[in-house]
Parts: sequence; structure tokens; C-alpha cells
Amino acid sequence: MPPSFDRLFDHHRLVVLDGATGTLLQQFGMPLSHSPESWVLENPVAVYTAAEAYVNAGSDIILTCTFGGTVARLQESLLGDRAFEINQTAAKIAREATHGRALVAGSIGPLGRLQLTLGGMRYTEAVDQFAAQAQALVMGGVDLFEIESFSDLQEIQAAVEGVRQVSKLPIFATMSFDSQGKTLTGITPYAAAKMLAQLDVTAIGANCGRGPWDMAGIMREMVEAVPGMLLVAKPNAGLPEMVDGKPSYPVDPAKFAQFARDWIRAGARIVGGCCGSTPKHIEAIRAEISGKRPVSSKQ
Ligand SMILES: [Zn+2]
Repeated sequence: MPPSFDRLFDHHRLVVLDGATGTLLQQFGMPLSHSPESWVLENPVAVYTAAEAYVNAGSDIILTCTFGGTVARLQESLLGDRAFEINQTAAKIAREATHGRALVAGSIGPLGRLQLTLGGMRYTEAVDQFAAQAQALVMGGVDLFEIESFSDLQEIQAAVEGVRQVSKLPIFATMSFDSQGKTLTGITPYAAAKMLAQLDVTAIGANCGRGPWDMAGIMREMVEAVPGMLLVAKPNAGLPEMVDGKPSYPVDPAKFAQFARDWIRAGARIVGGCCGSTPKHIEAIRAEISGKRPVSSKQ
């Protein structure tokens, strides 16, 4: 029987997400200058292979290759007019790659124009952008949404509102705390958790950032802010160094999985990896936690 969202979260289970898509596609030969979304059309076999590798590694939920799938973001690679097709196709590819053994989360990232609030875009326009992407992802058959890597509270609120205009599916909403423990716009994990928990979302948390060593502290702040909230921990494998013209990430799978134990102890129930993490990292996390319940002192 294919997994369902509710059953996945039964029995206080730990839930394993996937690892990076963009950096994995780079390992498969995608040029650094390419957007991963462009490969949904140009090299769907690679996108499928990456997704399937995560399912085989033990992911309960895999993400679509649509992090930069808003029209605003796709316009940067001159694909704005193919946004619907890219999102719908990416969802279908991910769905096929699960072979019925994992759920598919529609990945939604920022509009790509912020350093400051929405980069001058009107709030309603931002909501429309996210709603259009979410609609295409729903048409492609996603089970839930992962809204991730946001720095700005107003923008992530616009993303949740956009999804809610077209879908009642569960939403995970996570921000990136990569600037001295805060987001680029200066938001602390505590403040982010307080605000995100008020939105119509199932889980909140943190993704990407500076590395897996920061994540336990972020989780502790979020638990303090909103006790009992489902928390996502999905850090990158450290910051990349360029080796022979290719980004190389410092945290190997075994070390990454050891860190995962710390995030879980700190309160995370949904764990995975961001930039630089691979199917091997997810396999190591799965092995580390297999059969174990969360080690939270409250249970
Ligand atoms: Zn990342």
C-alpha cells in the first residue's frame, strides 16, 4: 500500500526527507551555470535517477526539482513561460521515482530577488507567484509542500498563503539561518518559530545554513519558542570549497548522521539534508535512526 501522510506521522516516528537535488545533479554532470529546473525538461532521466536514489536510500519523503520554480525565478534562465510545464513534470517524475514507497513534497523556494523584503515585489504579486507554482505541483500529483530556504518572514508568509489559495495539503515551512545564527534579514530561530507556527502549516524548521553543527542549537531555540510543534532539520553538508572547479562539501555521510542524532535529541522529528548532501548521507541517517523513536525526554 502506498504511504499516506497521516500514517507516516503515526507512532511518533522519525521521518526522513531526502538530500540535495541541485548539487547531486551537478555530480551527474549538470554545469554550475544551469538551473536544476532546466534539467526537468533537458535531462529528465537524471532528475528521475536522483529522486530514485533518495527513495532507495530510505527517504520517506522526496522533494520535487522545483526549488526555483516560480515564474520570477525561472525568468532568470529564460524559462518563465514554461513554469507550469516544469513544475507539473517535476512532480510527475518524482511520483514515478517513488515506486509507491515514499511521498512527494513540492519544493518551493524564494523568489530570488530579496536581500530585503520581497525585493520590491508587491505582496499580492508574490502570493500569486507561489499560488501558480503550487497549482502546477498539485496537478503533477504532490502529497505535500516543502517551502524552504526563506530568509524573510513576509516572503515565507506569502508562499504559505499562495499554496493555501490552491491546496489544503500539508505544508512544511523552513528558513535558513546562515548569518551568525540568524537569517539574512536578521530573524532568529526563536522569532521565526513563533511566527511560522501561527501560519497554517504542519511543520516548521530550518534548512541549508552553514552546516550540520548549527542545527541542534536552532532546534532547541524553536522548541523553546513553540513546544510540541513538529520540527524539520535539513542542513547542508557544510560550506563548499572549490576543488578542481567543482564545489566540494566537507561533511561526509557518517559524520552527518552523527550530527542528525543531535538534531533529533534537540527536538527535530523530520530530518534530511540540503546542499552537498547525497543519497549516501540519507542512507547513513536512515541507518543511524532505524527502528528508533525520537529520543526526546518528553516521551
Ligand atoms: Zn541548501
